[in-house]
Amino acid sequence: MKHDTPPPTPTLKGFSPGFASLGLEAALLTTLETLGYEEPTPIQREAIPPLLAGRDLLGRAATGTGKTAAFTLPLLQRLAHSARQPHPSALILVPTRELAIQVTEAVQRYGKEQRITILAVYGGAAIRPQLMALKRGVDVVVATPGRALDHIRRKTLHLKDLQIVVLDEADEMLNMGFAEDLDAILQQTPKTRQTALFSATMPPRIASIARQHLHDPVEIQIIKEPVKAGVAPRVHQTGYLVARPHKVAALARILDMVGPKSALVFCRTRLEVDELTSMLNSRGYRGEGLHGGMNQAQRDRVMQSFRSGKTELLVATDVAARGLDIPHVSHVVNYDVPSSPEAYVHRIGRTGRAGRTGEAITLVEPRERWLLQNVERLTKSKIEMAALPTVADLQTKRLERIGVSIQEILTANKFAPFRAVVNTLTEKFDSADVAAAAIQLAYGSKGGERTEEEIPVLRDRAQDTPQMSRRPRMEPLDLPRGTRPRGSEGRPVGKRDRPGRSPATATLHFGAGRAAGIRPGDLVGAIANEAGLPSNMIGPIKISDQFSLVKVPEEMAQGVMKALGRTRIKGQKVAVRLYRE
Ligand code: AMP
Repeated sequence: MKHDTPPPTPTLKGFSPGFASLGLEAALLTTLETLGYEEPTPIQREAIPPLLAGRDLLGRAATGTGKTAAFTLPLLQRLAHSARQPHPSALILVPTRELAIQVTEAVQRYGKEQRITILAVYGGAAIRPQLMALKRGVDVVVATPGRALDHIRRKTLHLKDLQIVVLDEADEMLNMGFAEDLDAILQQTPKTRQTALFSATMPPRIASIARQHLHDPVEIQIIKEPVKAGVAPRVHQTGYLVARPHKVAALARILDMVGPKSALVFCRTRLEVDELTSMLNSRGYRGEGLHGGMNQAQRDRVMQSFRSGKTELLVATDVAARGLDIPHVSHVVNYDVPSSPEAYVHRIGRTGRAGRTGEAITLVEPRERWLLQNVERLTKSKIEMAALPTVADLQTKRLERIGVSIQEILTANKFAPFRAVVNTLTEKFDSADVAAAAIQLAYGSKGGERTEEEIPVLRDRAQDTPQMSRRPRMEPLDLPRGTRPRGSEGRPVGKRDRPGRSPATATLHFGAGRAAGIRPGDLVGAIANEAGLPSNMIGPIKISDQFSLVKVPEEMAQGVMKALGRTRIKGQKVAVRLYRE
C-alpha cells in the first residue's frame, strides 16, 4: 500500500494530536474523542489558540465550518479555570431560537466533562422558567438579543460577571434588526470581557461593530481565495437538500438508486462511520468503515477488500482517507458538506480520475446550503441541485434492474436448469403469470418489499432567487396613506412572486407602522424569534405610516399570528391579522 502522507497515528488513549496541539486540555480531548472528531476543522485550528489565550476574535465563517466548537471549546476551558461567579460568566448571542437551541446543545455536548450550567434564553418560550433558572444561577447563557435585553431590563440577567461574549451569525442578527439591541447589550458588559464575533459576511456594519466592541481582534477568514486546483471537469456534481433527521434514509435511497459498484462515502466523525457502515450493511451492501482510530493492520485489511472489489462501499472520514492511495471510484458521496472547499475538492478528486467520468453526490442540510454555494463559487464549478428519488422512483428502478438482469440471463442462455420448474408450473398456470411471480420473488429478495419511508421534499430557496436568499427580503417601501400596497416591482402584494415556483403565501397585517418606529428588522425579528420562522421565509415587507404588511408562507400564517398574539414589538402590543386584498 502506498501512503502519500503518513497515516494519522492514534496517540495515547486515542487523543487526536490535532486537537491536543491547539492547547485544549485532557477533559475536552476526551469528549472530542468520544464524539469521534478526528481533527480540527480549519476554523477550529485558527480560532482555538488565540481564544484560549484570551484574545478577541473576528471570524468570517459560515455554519457547517465547525465554528460552534471553535468558540465553545476555548470558552469551556477558560471557564473551567476561573472562579464560579454568582452571575453568568459567558453570553452567546445568536439570531434565532433554533440556533439558540442548537448552540446550547453543542455547549452541553462539548462540556460533558465540565460541570458548567447553561441556559437558552429566547423569545417565544415562556419567560418564567427562564427567570427561575437565571435566579438559581447559570454559567453560560445562550440568547437571542431581544429576549436577552428583556431579561437585562427586568434585572434578571446580570452582565457584570461576564468574561466572555460571543456574537454568532452577527450578520444575520443585523439583518433581523438587532443592531440596537446588540449595542445596548454590549454597552453593559464589563470592559475586561473577551469578545468573539462570527459572521458569514462582513458588511461595513459588522466591521463597525467590530471596531467599536472588539479589542485588537485576531482576524480569521476561512473563506479565502478560489481553490487553485479547480475541480476535475469530468466529475458530475449533484447536491440533495435533506433535513438532518432524514439523512440516513436519503443516503440509502440515493445509493439504492445509483447501485454503485465502488463508492466512497465521506462523513465527519468516527461515530458516523460506524453508524453508516452498519446501516448500509443491513441494507445488503458490502460496506466497510475506515477511520483514524483503526490500526495499520485493520486499515490494510479494509483497503485490500475495497481494492479487490469485495467491498462496494468504503465509509471514511477525511483523516482516514487522506493517507491512502484509494483506487478509482465511480462515486464519491459526501454525507455532509465538508467544512472547507479544499476538503470538498480533495474528497471528490477520488473519482473522475485518469480521464474517466465520476459522480460526486452531496447531501446538504438547509443550514449548510450556503456552504455549498461557497464551494461552487470558489471551485468555479456547478453543483446541480436535484430532487431526492421518491419511493416510487426506487421501485421503478429496482424493477428495471431485474428486467436488465433477466435479459442478460436470457441472452447468455444459462437458465436450462430452471426450465423443469417452469414446465411444471405452466401445466397449471399461464406462462406470463409464472414469469411475473418469479419477478415478484426476485423483487422481494432485492429489498423491494422493505417499507421505505417517504423523505420530505425541501424547497431549495437558494434557487428561487438569483441572489442568495438566505437573507430576508426586506423592502421598506414608503406608502402614501390609503394607497393599496404594491410589491416592489409594482405588482399587488398577495400575488405570488414567482408563479408556479413559490408555495402560496399569506400577507399579515400589523397594526403599527413607521409612525410607531417599526422597521423591517423589528418585524423579521419578532416573527423569527416568537414564531420560530426562519428569516429567509419571511418577506417582502412593506411599511406604511400606520400599518405594515409582511408575507409569510400560507401554512405558517396561523401559527405566526398565534405566536405574535403574546408578544410586543418595539415595546408595544401590535394587533396582527390576515390581510386580504
Ligand atoms: P457548525 O459549523 O459549528 O454548525 O458545525 C457543523 C457540524 O460539524 C456539527 O454537526 C459538528 O458536530 C460537526 N463538527 C464540528 N467540528 C468537527 C470536527 N472537528 N470533526 C468532525 N465534525 C465536526
